[in-house]
Amino acid sequence: MHKLKSLNNNMAMKENHQNELNRREFLKRLGVTSASAALLMGLGPLSAFGREDKQKIIVSNDMTYRINRKTGDKVSLLGYGMMRLPQKNGRIDQDLVNEEVKYALEHGVNYFDTSPHYQRDKSESSLGTALKASGFDRKSYYIATKLSNFGQQEWSYEASVNMYRNSLKFLQTDYIDYYLLHGVGGGGMQQLKSRFFDNGVMDFLMEERAAGRIRNLGFSYHGDVEVFEWLVENTEKYGWSFAQIQMNYVDWKHAKDINRRNTNAEYLYGLLEKHDVQGVIMEPLLGGRLANLPEVFAKPLKQMRPDDSPASWGFRFCGTHPNILVSLSGMTLMEHLVDNVKTHSPLNPCTQKELALLEEVAQKMVTYPLIPCTDCKYCMPCPYGVDIPANFAFYNKCLNEDKLPPADKAASDYKKKLKAFQKGYKKALKPSELASQCMECRECVSKCPQRIQIPNQMTRLTELLERKE
Ligand code: SF4
Ligand code: SF4
Repeated sequence: MHKLKSLNNNMAMKENHQNELNRREFLKRLGVTSASAALLMGLGPLSAFGREDKQKIIVSNDMTYRINRKTGDKVSLLGYGMMRLPQKNGRIDQDLVNEEVKYALEHGVNYFDTSPHYQRDKSESSLGTALKASGFDRKSYYIATKLSNFGQQEWSYEASVNMYRNSLKFLQTDYIDYYLLHGVGGGGMQQLKSRFFDNGVMDFLMEERAAGRIRNLGFSYHGDVEVFEWLVENTEKYGWSFAQIQMNYVDWKHAKDINRRNTNAEYLYGLLEKHDVQGVIMEPLLGGRLANLPEVFAKPLKQMRPDDSPASWGFRFCGTHPNILVSLSGMTLMEHLVDNVKTHSPLNPCTQKELALLEEVAQKMVTYPLIPCTDCKYCMPCPYGVDIPANFAFYNKCLNEDKLPPADKAASDYKKKLKAFQKGYKKALKPSELASQCMECRECVSKCPQRIQIPNQMTRLTELLERKE
């Protein structure tokens, strides 16, 4: 039944897309640009992309948009996640952020997602600066940020409200389009209630929404499925417009295979659809893993669509699902942004044959021994200085490039590979950041949304790092 509904919706989506194409062709013949076109089509100023004014803003006609069913926002299916920003000399490279944000806006991306805790508290101000510098009208894009009151010292009403007000200040705005209860699920129902409900924070946020300073309220989910179910089932009471979930073609049916405490995205998506809540996707590329597929997985995708990047398959999977409002991507490099814009301009939904191929790839991937780190950095800082995600990134890179020492010590290349691995590892990280510095204090374990047993992995990596021939 659910499948049938999705298929029907899919067909409707294709039709809408066809309508979009027809509309574009029609407007092209008339010689009008999209901003004036939006007005011509009665979409109103909020939907109009950029402005036809003296700033000579370039606008894109090709981006695929989804309509927010509660507010009518016309949201680009590709959203810009501001979690991993480009760096220069150990600081955010603001010039490049400005350039990338402007490029995104000029090519139709209009949803920007940040949090007070991203980039060691600097992401919101960096985004605020870039949006201001872009020259685009405030009404032509949507800002999403979060109440990231993770630490117990931030659970009070005063601290939480303060965090919200700071977000407005750092983002240089007097309203937030999409505001999320950040990272619900970790710590179960008890923590959810302590962070948002028992302290009066939720009442405050609903008042802010009524006053128009928050346009949409939602939550981002990592963790205990009981929390997700409770929130979704209370949609009417709290008026959620959207919910952010981890979804990609591996997590769709295999999140549980990666970690039995995870919940498959297919279930989460189905529940959102049932309760008429639109989904926002985080990790559409599983922390970059689906963009850097090992050759063995990338090959069949290349054979089917030779010109497409592995990342484009990940986004096309997500966008094929009609109840998705936006897929977020952390696009640190300009080349990622350009490729992702291309994939979404317009998005070409997956065929049944392509979906079946992605499922085959996903099934093989779950038995592939990658450490499922998404580089979210929630586990950082480690009190003993270990750079947790950098250790995992190095290990995963070696695995993908077939540079790990083989399990069989008698293998002819064993010594050579072990030596190269250890040398490369010590070169990639500072001595103070290596896995061997882990004291197994376990402070990081509960912070990891991927539920990686970080100290166990550190022990394993240390053994490899210090192994004698
Ligand atoms: S368990 Fe190890 S890696 Fe994790 S916080 Fe403690 S010392 Fe750091
Ligand atoms: S180990 Fe977990 S918390 Fe840390 S960066 Fe990786 S996924 Fe995020």
